Amino acid sequence: MDLIILDIDGTLTDTEHVDEHSIVGALEEVLGVSDLSTDWTMYRTSTDGGIVAEVVERVHGSVRQEVVEDVTKRFYGMLEDHYTTSPDLFAPMPGARDVLATLREMGYCVAIATGCWRESALFKLRVAGIEHVGVPLATADDSHDRAEILRRAIDLAQQWNDIQGFRNIWYVGDGVWDARAAATLGIGFIGIAAGQKADRLRAEGATIIVDAPADVTAVLRQSRARQTASHSSTV
Ligand SMILES: [Mg+2]
Repeated sequence: MDLIILDIDGTLTDTEHVDEHSIVGALEEVLGVSDLSTDWTMYRTSTDGGIVAEVVERVHGSVRQEVVEDVTKRFYGMLEDHYTTSPDLFAPMPGARDVLATLREMGYCVAIATGCWRESALFKLRVAGIEHVGVPLATADDSHDRAEILRRAIDLAQQWNDIQGFRNIWYVGDGVWDARAAATLGIGFIGIAAGQKADRLRAEGATIIVDAPADVTAVLRQSRARQTASHSSTV
């Protein structure tokens, strides 16, 4: 069996900007800081939990849990306010509503691994209309480190499918941190990006980059066809 793991923000849902706006807004409001960098590669980890912990530590000298909880609460409040006023900010990426079911029909196991918190992940998937019943979900509640979140998704997928391991594993994501996490684990990577964002993924060594989840199945079909061809040429 092969496993395809998908990221959420910027991959399944077009929520990268609203998420960024809400996390920075909550941190600035609760901590009284300003001009926080939104270049997440500058942080120790690029997950919601990791970013909040790092900024709280920078301001308070330690990761004070009650402050983290205040920021988290404010973050959810902002996310919901944005949804109330501008639900279009939570649109699914092209093809995202079908990709999980289509991959399963093609015989793949699927899972979701995201750097956002579980509650935020479930909210975004729900409002974007992405059906994910029976799909293992690993989030920043599992770890602040994206490679660890990916490992958790793989473990969950093994348990849910009652198998020992996967032949091939791919991570589908849009961030340089996604490409790095896939490289750390030695698994395949499919980038979802265009323009400068795609250039940044290429600079990380990504060789397969498509515009949207709608194109992922075509890439995998081509990969399978190549594998079949190379197998039959060696038989
Ligand atoms: Mg993303």
